[in-house]
Amino acid sequence: MIEERKKCIQDHSLEEITAIVLERGFPKFRSQQIFELSLSYRDWAESSNIPKSLSEAFSDYVIVPAKIISKVNGNKGVTKYLFLLTDNSIVEGVYLPNNYGNTVCVSSQVGCARGCEFCASGINGLIRDLSPGEILGQVLAINREKNGTKNNRAISNVVLMGSGEPLDNYVNVIRFIRLITSENGLNISPRNITLSTCGIPDKIYKLAKEEIPLTLTISLHASSDIDRQKIMPIAKVYSIKDVVKAADFYYSNTGRRVSYEYALTELSSKNESIDDLVKLLKGKQVHINLIRLNPVRGKSILGSEDKRAEEIKKILGDNGISATIRRSLGSDIDGACGQLRNHFLADGKKIKDFSEYSVIG
Ligand code: SAH
Repeated sequence: MIEERKKCIQDHSLEEITAIVLERGFPKFRSQQIFELSLSYRDWAESSNIPKSLSEAFSDYVIVPAKIISKVNGNKGVTKYLFLLTDNSIVEGVYLPNNYGNTVCVSSQVGCARGCEFCASGINGLIRDLSPGEILGQVLAINREKNGTKNNRAISNVVLMGSGEPLDNYVNVIRFIRLITSENGLNISPRNITLSTCGIPDKIYKLAKEEIPLTLTISLHASSDIDRQKIMPIAKVYSIKDVVKAADFYYSNTGRRVSYEYALTELSSKNESIDDLVKLLKGKQVHINLIRLNPVRGKSILGSEDKRAEEIKKILGDNGISATIRRSLGSDIDGACGQLRNHFLADGKKIKDFSEYSVIG
């Protein structure tokens, strides 16, 4: 049953927690204890130094905003998680170990308003935005589950590629990034954070001016407006030209090279489509991730063959455009956005109330 969402400690910076602690009549040092507890992702009862009077005075706040209710281990160390939020809604996240560090992929919304044809997240539309602390909570939960701590993190990189369109939840997502990159917080470098968007030009201009040197990734998936409109409703609002122009501004303003996600389908891998892609991006400082589409239940869109992916990568390289073929990590465990959640719900799994679960499942 859907309940009202509760406030969480992780929505706040240390300075804000300090102000609340003082306002509620407790000494200042208590704020550091609450802050540390929230980053170690332990519940009030798990703390040895927080007195009952303090946790009771904060009973209007939860300290574990996202609980792991299901966990699936896949190939190559990938783990996929389902998180239960305080209003009993569910989002998902993924842990992907790499040789350069470990990445977590988190959700920014419950559902999504953008309705891309190949994506499982938007099947039932947008349910709600996540708060900054709910996004951070997913990272903290995985860090704890993988035996990481605040100073010895199990996680080095974060990608906003779970369910939701991050730029549709702009204010909360920016705040999440400021919290997770703050020196007294997890202190993750903005360079290790990737924000993936379906491409909303005015928000990209705004993001470029935030002075956060993160990695911006645009989900392009087609090289002509006509083709893009067939798979991404957003393409009816903004032309590819306007999206690329905004991405170019992002690069010139931040010095951060923009990536484009390009899923290979029958349509997008045709010779003409690749010619158009080359014309669109040749000479620009960009990177293209060629993606193999993960099949989604109830969606008929098909991916193209591996051999074609290699050919396309070569054509792009010959034109001076750097490209990689995305390892299809996680496809064995419903890796693509929204899939695990949809299967969980479709299989009729009963969800107990938030309060009945422990922190990490
Ligand atoms: N809304 C954002 C972020 C979420 S999607 C965006 O559009 O970028 C993260 C990436 O996964 C996007 O590139 C998206 O297009 C891709 N994706 C979604 N469904 C997929 C599927 N079935 N197979 C492969 N990639 C998929």
